Amino acid sequence: TNTLFDGLLSAGLGDPQRRFAVLPDGRSYSYGDVETVSARFANVLVGLGLKPGDRVAVQVEKSIEALMLYFGTVRAGGVFLPLNTAYTPAEIDYFLGDAKPRVFVCDPKKRDALAEVAARAGAAIETLGVWRSPDESAGSLSDKVLAASDRFETVSRGQEDLAAILYTSGTTGRSKGAMLSHANLLSNAEVLRDAWRFTAEDVLLHALPIFHTHGLFVASNTVTIAGGSLIFLPKFDPDAVFEWLPQATTMMGVPTFYTRLLDDARLNRDATAHMRLFTSGSAPLLAETHRAFEAATGQRILERYGMTETNMSTSNPYDGERRAGTVGFPLQGTELRIADPESGKILPGGEIGVIEVKGPNVFSGYWQMPEKTASEFRADGFFITGDLGFVDEDGYVTIVGRGKDLVITGGYNVYPKEVELVIDELPGVVESAVIGVPHKDFGEGVVGCVVAKEPLEEEAVIAALKDKLARFKQPKRIVFVDELPRNTMGKVQKNVLREAYKDLLG
Ligand code: ATP
Ligand code: MG
Repeated sequence: TNTLFDGLLSAGLGDPQRRFAVLPDGRSYSYGDVETVSARFANVLVGLGLKPGDRVAVQVEKSIEALMLYFGTVRAGGVFLPLNTAYTPAEIDYFLGDAKPRVFVCDPKKRDALAEVAARAGAAIETLGVWRSPDESAGSLSDKVLAASDRFETVSRGQEDLAAILYTSGTTGRSKGAMLSHANLLSNAEVLRDAWRFTAEDVLLHALPIFHTHGLFVASNTVTIAGGSLIFLPKFDPDAVFEWLPQATTMMGVPTFYTRLLDDARLNRDATAHMRLFTSGSAPLLAETHRAFEAATGQRILERYGMTETNMSTSNPYDGERRAGTVGFPLQGTELRIADPESGKILPGGEIGVIEVKGPNVFSGYWQMPEKTASEFRADGFFITGDLGFVDEDGYVTIVGRGKDLVITGGYNVYPKEVELVIDELPGVVESAVIGVPHKDFGEGVVGCVVAKEPLEEEAVIAALKDKLARFKQPKRIVFVDELPRNTMGKVQKNVLREAYKDLLG
């Protein structure tokens, strides 16, 4: 048996005719196609010399075939290693040098730029593009796949064997490779299917990238294990979303999806009345976005929290109150606690500290970083997430920011989220990001980066905060920006802001 592949596909393969995915070009995939196409990919990988445990690194445009490459890699006993499509050859050089994959699959257009990088890492290079027509090659891997047998005897892999190495988003520094086992991924798919009530009747509108845990595992695995189907869009595009929404029952998004939909006149109750569930994650969803979406559609977005290393750890309830600004309760099987970041002492309810989690969802360590792995786990097996938060008296978890974004000014801790929430309430403010920058007396000083929808004066904003925040929390400066720098997952890149304003307080 192959823990992950068998576990994910058992429901769908019970009825091979059942639809697995529909694509905007009109093509569709059945579960039977998943079985035969992933077999073809697995045959090709084995032909390229893939042995169990070998990595298959992949930097390709989103396509259903790329998803079949994931399944094929798992079936062949390999370790799937997707890479952000935005990475440059210099960045790919680092990842391939670190991961030493047997095979590297890239976009046909990037082959020339990446051939040497692959060779240096000792990887065979193949290309996979987006399939357009039967008489146009979609790359060397695609050609081999079309010629390969569609029968493959799935390689046995157990619970603890690696299924994937996923690099973290690099929001706080250089990306780390999180080693994810078959059991990590399968258990989270089971838990999310049950928590969010996914069934074979579900149709998920899939507009997320598939090089990240959200689109690859949370979305694709959860639907697959339920035997449901995907509307597989190449990217988030409001026109396509409104075209396909009538056929969907559920959608998973990052917060920027929801803010963009809210800006669209087509968003209303009628457009979404048939939808069973909208979820959000990967970055904080503003309580205001949550409320605005409900006001526009009647739908309460379900926010959840996770990370590359842990898969999903908490979720707001399917039934029961989905509380805006919180990430809900620990999921089935996940233990969560709040600890003092320095001493590791467990803190009582309501106090802010670092979030620690333990459970079958939690990864086994960072690829080739034993010291880093050791320092991020407590002796009793809890993983130190690096996110700061608290648990309220009803058990809801609230995230107040990342430990690395905490501002320490004159010896006092300032949680950026607390200040951001107050700034965001001011008239004329769209959103804000609060950072700490070097200050000669206080070590760090608080700076607010504000996106305004009308002209605002710095002095007026600072004055408006005076009686709302303790003095040490008040921003020393406010800077106005057109938009906050965000990466592809909608995460605000505070390191970019800190760098830009590092000399602001002199
Ligand atoms: P790196 O670890 O390389 O700096 P990253 O932490 O952004 O990058 P991911 O694993 O993609 O990489 O993101 C996980 C992080 O995203 C979490 O640790 C948390 O800070 C944030 N996050 C995810 N979901 C939520 C949420 N619902 N609310 C607030 N933050 C969230
Ligand atoms: Mg992280």
